[in-house]
Amino acid sequence: MRAALTGTPGTGKTTVAKLLPYRVIDLNALVRDEGLSLGTDPERGCLIADVDALAERVEELAPEGDEEIVILEGHFSHQLASEAIVLRTSPGVLRERLKLRGYPEKKVRENLEAEALDVILVEAAEWCDRVSEIDTTGKSPQEVADLVVRILGRVIAMPPGNIDWTGEMEFDP
Ligand code: ADP
Ligand code: MG
Repeated sequence: MRAALTGTPGTGKTTVAKLLPYRVIDLNALVRDEGLSLGTDPERGCLIADVDALAERVEELAPEGDEEIVILEGHFSHQLASEAIVLRTSPGVLRERLKLRGYPEKKVRENLEAEALDVILVEAAEWCDRVSEIDTTGKSPQEVADLVVRILGRVIAMPPGNIDWTGEMEFDP
């Protein structure tokens, strides 16, 4: 089975995926390395994934019917799996991480607003049969990875709905 590790940029997907005892498919790398894109987003400068081509390739690499757990990692991975784990991070903490990455202020704000408004969570709920949500704020990457393993092992359940960042963000009028 495929499980998507998704979330707003900076929430720790790549870091946590490296600590998981499963095969991981980095979707951004797959798009880049195999040319599965429709071009470059002129505003953001990033590749636009060809989701249909990507879905076909992912099904080859990790058939959904297989017993093996395979992690799809990336901020649109929830479009390619029936189960998603959404990583969340307090906008205040996320802001510092995205600034450290060298994102321009506009891109930082865009991502903080997406996080505050649960954009990825809402998308995951639309695409997937089962969605879990982990608040990574104040947790180490290893602690988050351990939670992912326990969720996928059905040892614990972390259903969405317990996180609310709306008090943390000021929005432009
Ligand atoms: P993503 O892949 O979701 O964009 P990354 O895994 O690249 O996010 O993480 C972004 C930054 O945040 C990295 O510098 C990483 O070291 C740091 N980071 C990730 N997870 C945590 C965590 N749980 N606690 C503290 N720092 C973290
Ligand atoms: Mg990443």
